[in-house]
Amino acid sequence: MTDWNIQTRAHACTACNKSFSHKEFYHTVLMSERSEFKRSDVCQPCWDREFGEGVRDRKGFISYWHGIYQAPPPPEEPIQKATAESLLRKLIELNDPRFVPAGYILAVMLERKRILKVKEQFRREGRRYFLYEHPASGDVFTILDPDLQLNQLEQVQKDVAELLEHGTSAPQFQPIVTEPAHVEPGEQDEPDIQPGIAPTEPPPAQ
Ligand SMILES: [Zn+2]
Repeated sequence: MTDWNIQTRAHACTACNKSFSHKEFYHTVLMSERSEFKRSDVCQPCWDREFGEGVRDRKGFISYWHGIYQAPPPPEEPIQKATAESLLRKLIELNDPRFVPAGYILAVMLERKRILKVKEQFRREGRRYFLYEHPASGDVFTILDPDLQLNQLEQVQKDVAELLEHGTSAPQFQPIVTEPAHVEPGEQDEPDIQPGIAPTEPPPAQ
């Protein structure tokens, strides 16, 4: 018997080869066959037809469980390096303030991929800038920190995906406005009421 063994969940039914769909119920049997563990992940129809009740009595039966199939998450950054880089170059060339947040996100992505390297950061007129070097070409990119709030990140990431797919001329493109918002995390969902003034407070007596 093998000592250590990890058998990952299959993405398709072992019996009929049909891919599991997200949240599909599946059955798993672990058997020992010769000197190996054999894991079978089985869809409900195959389970009813071929396995079912008697499985625990089969020779080599070790364990049975069932679960809900979770589709694997999409790759974190399913974009091509050249595309992110060429888009960033294009945005910088356009020099349109609407694209500052997207440019910032693209630079961060390219830094993670080690295509860009942060050389330095500096402040001008109260705003922070990053100086990125593109070692392959020696180019240097100056990127304005858009001072994104946590609750804006998701929207900007969608904007970036949109830009990567449709380019800068996408008619529906409505980038987020990033005036530095003076809102602490956690407060942004609060109703717009001045502190200390309860909305139900009666008007002052005349
Ligand atoms: Zn099946």
